[in-house]
Formats: sequence, C-alpha cells, structure tokens
Amino acid sequence: MSTFQELGLNEDLLNAITDLGFVKPSEVQEKAIPLLLEEDKDLVALAQTGTGKTAAFGFPMLQKIDIDSRTTQGLILSPTRELCLQITNELKNYGKYCKGLNVVAIYGGSSISDQARAVKRGAQIIVATPGRMKDMISRRMVDISKIQYSVLDEADEMLNMGFYEDITDILSHTPEDKSTWLFSATMPKEVSTIAKKFMYDPTEITVGNKNESTSNVSHEYYLVNARDRYQALKRLADANPDIFSVIFCRTKRDTQKVAENLIEDGYSAGALHGDLSQNQRDLVMKSFRNNQIQMLVATDVAARGIDVDDITHVINYQLPDEIETYTHRSGRTGRAGKTGVSMVIVSKSEVRKIKSIERIIKKQFEKKDIPSGTDIVEVQLMSLANKIHTTETNHEIDKHLDSINELFADTDKDELIKKFFSVEFNRFFNYYQKSKDLSVVESRGDRDGGRDYGKQSNDTRYFINVGSKDGFDWMKLKDFLKEQLELGRDDVFKVDVKESFSFFNTEKALQEKVLAFFTDFKYEGRFVNVEVSENRGGGRSGGRSRGRNDRRSGASGNRRRDDKRERRSNDRRSSGGSGNRSDRRGRRSDDSRTSDRSDRKFNDSRGDRRPESSSTGSDRPRRSRRRD
Ligand code: ADP
Ligand code: MG
Repeated sequence: MSTFQELGLNEDLLNAITDLGFVKPSEVQEKAIPLLLEEDKDLVALAQTGTGKTAAFGFPMLQKIDIDSRTTQGLILSPTRELCLQITNELKNYGKYCKGLNVVAIYGGSSISDQARAVKRGAQIIVATPGRMKDMISRRMVDISKIQYSVLDEADEMLNMGFYEDITDILSHTPEDKSTWLFSATMPKEVSTIAKKFMYDPTEITVGNKNESTSNVSHEYYLVNARDRYQALKRLADANPDIFSVIFCRTKRDTQKVAENLIEDGYSAGALHGDLSQNQRDLVMKSFRNNQIQMLVATDVAARGIDVDDITHVINYQLPDEIETYTHRSGRTGRAGKTGVSMVIVSKSEVRKIKSIERIIKKQFEKKDIPSGTDIVEVQLMSLANKIHTTETNHEIDKHLDSINELFADTDKDELIKKFFSVEFNRFFNYYQKSKDLSVVESRGDRDGGRDYGKQSNDTRYFINVGSKDGFDWMKLKDFLKEQLELGRDDVFKVDVKESFSFFNTEKALQEKVLAFFTDFKYEGRFVNVEVSENRGGGRSGGRSRGRNDRRSGASGNRRRDDKRERRSNDRRSSGGSGNRSDRRGRRSDDSRTSDRSDRKFNDSRGDRRPESSSTGSDRPRRSRRRD
C-alpha cells in the first residue's frame, strides 16, 4: 500500500489531502494516479460506486493543468446535476491550495447566463452534464477546443440515460490529441463501444469484478387489470421456458397463496416466508439452489439472504410498500456477471410508482405487454425445437430403430416432425388458443415516457437465433441490431430476449434490409439467422387473435421464409453442415407450426395434466422441473 506522496502528488494537493483526512489512497486511486501523472494516456477505469473515482481523476487533472492560464483545459462530463455539483465541490476541496484555480459546474435547470459568465471569468476545469454542455457549445458560451483532458465519469450511467449522441457531439468539439479518461462502475457493451470509438489504446484498470452492479439487470413493467395478476404471472413464466426466478409478494399470505396456485397449476414452485418453520425454509432453499424449483415465491424479508447466482428473472408480483425495496429485489438477479430481468406486474392505480422507482434506480423501465397466447406458443415451440436440436442422441434407441422405422415407413420427414412436436405441443396450443389479451392500454398521463406500440400494422416481427446465453439482454440486442444495421434510435423495438433466441420488431419498410443483412452474417463464429415471425409480438392489435387457419393461409411472409429456407439448406450443404449449431433447423419446422402449435411443458414425464378448469382458464398443462 503506497501513500499519496509516493503516488507523485505535489505539495498543494498533499496539503489538501491532509485537510480532507484521507490517510491512504484507495485502490483505484493507487492504480490510476501514477499512471495519469506519468504520461498523457487514455484510460478506462472500472470501479464500483464509492471507491474514490473522483479523486482518481481529480488529483492528476489538478496537477497537470496550467493554473496560471485561464484557458479551459479539463472537461468532466457526468450524468446528473447532483453528481456534477458533487464533483465540482470535491475538486474545489482538492484544489483549495492551488491559487487561481477556477472550477465551474454546468448543468440544466439553472441560469445558463450565470454559468456562461462563470466560464468567461476563466475556468480551467468545467464539470458538466451532457445536455447543458451541448447547449452551451451550440450557443458559443464555452470554448473547449483547447481541452487537454476529458473525463467521462459514470460512463455507464450516462449511456443508460441516453446521452450517447450528446457525448459524441461534445467530444467532436475537442482536440484530437487530448487524453480521455473514462470511469465507470460497469462495462456494458455501450461503454466499450465508446472506448473503442473515442479512445486511443486506453490502459484498462479494474477494481473488483467487472459488471458487478445491477447494471446487468434490465427492468420491465407490465400493466394489467388487478384481477388478472395471477394469469399475467403465468404468462410471463410460460413465455420464458428456462425461467429460474424469485417472485416477490407483499404479504406472507399472498406468498403462500401464489405458490400454492402455481404448484396446483403444474409449475415447479415453492414458497419462502416467515410463517414457515426453519426446516421448511431450508428445504425450499435447498430445492431452489439445486434448480429443482423454478419459481421461488418469497416475501422481502425471507428473501433477503438469497445468494443464488443464476437467477434469470425477478418478478414483482406486487410492488413493495417501500419503493427502495425494489433495488434489493432486482439485485437478486444479474449477479456474477450474468444478465437478468426484473419484471413488475402493475395495475393502473400503481403505475405511477414506476416513475419513482426509475428515479431511485436511475434506469428506465421498458413497458411491455403481457405475452399473448400466440407469443407463448411460438416461444415454446422454438424452445422445444432448440432443445431437441441440442439433445445428445441416446443410442439405446438404436436397437429399436427398425421397428420404429417400420411404423413410420409411409410418413415423410415433415409429417414426422409435425407429429413429433405435436406430442408435447398440442396441450399448450389448446390451452392458449382461447386465451384473451391481458394487456391494458395505458392512457396518456398514466406515466409519460411509456412507449405506445399500439399501431402495429406497419411492423414486422423477427425471430433471431441469439439470446441471453450469447450475452444479450434487450438493451444490448437492440444496440447490436441498431449498430449492425445502421439504424436510428427508435427503429428497433419490442426486443424480447429469451435464452437461446429472441424477437424484435422494425417498421415493415425495413424488412428487406434486415433480412438481406442477415442472410450471411456471423456473430462470434456462428451464423446468425433472422426470419420474419408470423406473430406480431405482444402488440395489442394485429394478428393476436388470428386462428390457425388464417395463419396457414398466411401471405407473403411465408413465401419469403420458404425462399430463405431454400437458400439456407444450400448454404449448409456447401459448408459441410459444420458449425452453425443453433441455426434454423428448429425453425424449419415452421410448417408444423401452422397445423400443430400448442402446449408447453415439454419434458414432463409425470403426465397427469390437469384438465382445463373454470372460466378463468387458470389451468394449464403441468410444468416440468427446471430441465436437466
Ligand atoms: P466514486 O466516484 O467512486 O463513487 P467518490 O469519488 O464519490 O467515489 O468517493 C466516495 C467518498 O470517498 C467521497 O466522500 C470521498 O471524499 C471519499 N474518499 C475518496 N478517496 C478517499 C481516500 N483515499 N480516503 C478516504 N476517503 C476517500
Ligand atoms: Mg463518482
């Protein structure tokens, strides 16, 4: 452990450090300060909140700038007004013995001319939020053309908040040969993109694990009628065949009830709450840890200690009374470098709370529709196809092969596939065929910022064979698509990421472009296939209630797929069928979908599926344990 002296800081700074009571440098300071003092180099530093990043860039910047000059030499961009003020304050403290130092904060919501005047007086360092900075540049109120050091602080947050364009714009007004120091708690794709684009051979410093924080979690909310809450929960589970989740309820009673209902409906679920004995709780936790339970229904208090790493979804069956509790809930997923989704089922009366939560977590929710029966049927079918495709062949079957072949002597391959899928699929299909739309249209003013996907008829929905196991969540996939296809900010929407595949929408006008682009596209060494999905995907209108006959007769999209299929089988032949594992073979059973889509619960050997019950349609085929 070194001291601040050993890091090479000058007398003025060391005196300030003594005044501040800092005894020894933090890890990120120890790593960054000597490096930045020694040479003019670009830097990417990853460290959690509260690790002293401000001083890690603040001290070197203060030491390196020429305080006798009034030229603006350092620019620090930070995501919020609060942080902006905080950093400015810290820098003033650090530089209190640097005579003539002038640090100016620039942020929205406060007089722009006052800020301009402060800059005019000669600010060696400007600390700014991107929006206001851009504004002031365009009004020529600041001159950053002689910047030598630029800092992107809390870079992941800035990008989360949609400041990408502003940052790009601002940096374009700075000199090429400046140094750029990027500080971030996590390293999502967006941050590495910035690093690649704007930095030259940056040195990377990591303190603790990368992506440790909840930035790995995306947040979604689903607006439903209060009485449909339970149905909605089941749909969310059904639309995510490999779900491994914690479901939060507000009371012990609700927790118990939801768990019982799920078990009764054939899901692998368990309850965790304070009315259970310690022994019962231990048993439930053990099953959950061993992946024998897919859905753990829990109260906040009981779930506090859960440290299971591979939870894919947190579902807020009800929002917590204390909004702050949401952070603890969503932190159950997205651990150990994995991505996770936190879903909230809300009724109209609570939807305003979403905004408050957004302020606390400093992230945006995506408003999504409860998956329709059609959505679920498609997801389940494709999940089954993928599973079959990756299943290892059991050669014990070989000795029975002759008899089986004899039985199917007159059945061609397509027919056989259809029959095969139907075994597991019909029940699902039948169940969801009569399902109704559970989504509630959010009226203007329920919550601003919610996206309206109401008019869907001009959309195309696509299937793509990459998913969360390829490291995508909806934001990453959206960015990936936008980047690859060179599309605008809102051109890709309704991105829905499953484990091994995903869906997304574009305007119909982009369909040709999208399909053409992905005809021969490789991602991390394997082919990525994109096809038009028949299902519009969670829209409130369009296609949802179409019967299967409609679908069979279904139009241009199918033709297109046939063409592609043709092309692909040729491709495969020429490439010797190697690689390309999760390619579309499953998808090729499309024909079968038109006649026999259905059911979920594919690998349940326990049989005993419960008959459809009641007008609520609450029942469904028994659900498997979490697979293998
Ligand atoms: P970060 O930007 O990583 O979230 P900050 O720079 O805001 O962290 O620092 C967090 C707190 O730690 C601040 O109050 C800061 O004054 C204090 N701090 C920073 N460096 C040290 C140090 N070396 N010793 C003691 N406290 C420190
Ligand atoms: Mg900070």
